Amino acid sequence: MSEQLSYLGVPLARPKVGFFELSSCEGCQLQLLNNEATLLDFLNLVEIVNFREGMSERADTYDIAFVEGSVTRKDEITRLTEIRRNAKILVALGSCACFGGVNQLKNRFRDLEWVKKEVYGDFPIETMEVHPLADFVQVDLSIFGCPIKKEEVERIVTDLVVGKTVRHPEYPVCMECKANENICLFELGEPCLGPVTRAGCDAWCPSNRRGCWGCRGPAETANLTELEKIMHTYGFDSETILDRLECFGGFASFADTLRPKNIAELSSLPAQTKLIPSGCKKVPARRKKP
Ligand code: SF4
Ligand code: SF4
Ligand code: SF4
Repeated sequence: MSEQLSYLGVPLARPKVGFFELSSCEGCQLQLLNNEATLLDFLNLVEIVNFREGMSERADTYDIAFVEGSVTRKDEITRLTEIRRNAKILVALGSCACFGGVNQLKNRFRDLEWVKKEVYGDFPIETMEVHPLADFVQVDLSIFGCPIKKEEVERIVTDLVVGKTVRHPEYPVCMECKANENICLFELGEPCLGPVTRAGCDAWCPSNRRGCWGCRGPAETANLTELEKIMHTYGFDSETILDRLECFGGFASFADTLRPKNIAELSSLPAQTKLIPSGCKKVPARRKKP
């Protein structure tokens, strides 16, 4: 039985919460467990009934399901559908769940069988095109980031528990970056998606001298045309923009509008290169199909 909490005499619900993972690195869940300073307060706020990374007990009765990871196997569709059926509120936790995340990098290769062979060789493994959760079930709330920001999860869970409307920042990362009094990285020769990316991470990367890669997806009024102009003004080409826009999946529709220009720029390269129109530098994007 859940212990009844109250705030200023008003009874609060203590929802039963389950954490689940599909295809992911489990880094978002780990973020929560790492939060030692406030972990006990967080655990008082909710009753965790399912959290494979943190406990061995299991239960299928929960009010809120936090689902990390993207769908990359057919059995994950069944599992996700079951979680959805059991939960009153389903939360997509992290960029993999919201947009496909880094997993969706493979979707840009037109021959997924070739990708599978490159990565797994002859190891028998089932894998398909990557999808965010919302492609299969209703998602009530999204928590962005790769990984998520633990302070943000605590704020959102608190809002849910006390019945407040959950809000995300509508402004871009640049606002937080400026509030932190950082020198703009463009002035230091580094590209950055801060002008178009949803804030909420406290400009995590630019504050550590790393350009933003857009892991939280687009801000409400993301102006990609202006971003292109800024990038070109500072000497970065269309492929550099695409590398970043495609990395986490949140900018998929924007990247689609840029991609044809990029293909045109690649027209001088061997025909097979067009099978991989662009790529994050961390994957062998320019490898030819054998
Ligand atoms: S969003 Fe990032 S940290 Fe979270 S599970 Fe996906 S890859 Fe890992
Ligand atoms: S470093 Fe990036 S986030 Fe910071 S002000 Fe420049 S463009 Fe914006
Ligand atoms: S600065 Fe950009 S890439 Fe870095 S955590 Fe924030 S949104 Fe993600």
